[in-house]
Amino acid sequence: MQREEFFHALDTVIQAPRKITVLSHVNPDGDAIGSSLAFSQFLQKLGHEVEVMVSNDFPEFLAWMPGASRIHIYDKESDICDQILESSDLIAILDFNHISRAGLIQDKLKSLKINKILIDHHRDTDFDVFLCALSDTQVSSTSELVAETILHYGEHFVDESIATNILVGIVTDTGSFSHSIYHPETFSICAKMIEKSISYNQIHQLVYDTFSENRLRLLGFSISNKMEILDEYATAIIALTKDELASFDYQVGDTEGVVNYPLSLKKIRMSVLVTERQGVIRFSFRSKGSFSVHEVAQKYFNGGGHTNAAGGTLTCSMEAALEKLHQILPEYKAMLNQD
Ligand code: 5GP
Ligand code: MN
Repeated sequence: MQREEFFHALDTVIQAPRKITVLSHVNPDGDAIGSSLAFSQFLQKLGHEVEVMVSNDFPEFLAWMPGASRIHIYDKESDICDQILESSDLIAILDFNHISRAGLIQDKLKSLKINKILIDHHRDTDFDVFLCALSDTQVSSTSELVAETILHYGEHFVDESIATNILVGIVTDTGSFSHSIYHPETFSICAKMIEKSISYNQIHQLVYDTFSENRLRLLGFSISNKMEILDEYATAIIALTKDELASFDYQVGDTEGVVNYPLSLKKIRMSVLVTERQGVIRFSFRSKGSFSVHEVAQKYFNGGGHTNAAGGTLTCSMEAALEKLHQILPEYKAMLNQD
């Protein structure tokens, strides 16, 4: 669905006031929360009754975002969330496109016969599921797509909360404008948002300068003690066990960004962070250039994402997970060593 077609379809969908639930992905990041809050605030301005919901809690460094306190967390209040979902006329799916990414909400979502709309920038969308969809992998973030949508309806809809939420989404999904910028419009949109938002410096500080001492020490430990460099594959792996995380009093979000550091090495093309979570091993992949970690995550780790940032999970031991990762590297050796 192209832009005009999407906006046209959306016009019909949002004409009459309705109960709308805005839903984003499990382990929500800045873009999930930013795009969902901004879109919900826009829908409220149009007279809709809107709730925002995610499967599990978001990191503390996003808690200050305008409207964040009214987000429903499914694993904390599943009964209320089920009621909200059941009484919705429409569900807006933001920043994910595969039902498994709904986390604990996926079964409920499958069982409900409610119209769904999609705004997302991930690959491989199943469009048949949606009443209307704005899906574009060549944008920085879902927040950028939400901004585009709101601006289509008029700049006057953008207020301080919406602008601030959009900026958090774009800043976090681009690693502070260091990747995933595909066109100059990302910056024009940001300029429009910065005109209305709280100060950009403050946003950056609120998102990035909020480490606990433990989080910074965990980052240091991850790089100094745990980073494995596989020169042959231009790959770096950092694996953190549950005990290691616990020894730094791990809090949700504390490993956010760790996977990016090895990419600052000139010789590294792919970086992988492997963490032991409750019952599963989580993989976070990052790459530089054309090497697609989406393919790797999708083919071997039950996941996906984008060309340069993807994630996945395996239900096995840390040893088995690392063995699998090492096993698949030879398949990608040539590609990892290109340019
Ligand atoms: P992160 O490494 O920051 O958790 O995720 C990087 C990117 O990959 C994000 O855009 C995220 O949406 C996507 N992603 C992370 N985990 C998964 C997963 O398990 N499945 C899929 N399909 N995408 C994922
Ligand atoms: Mn995103």
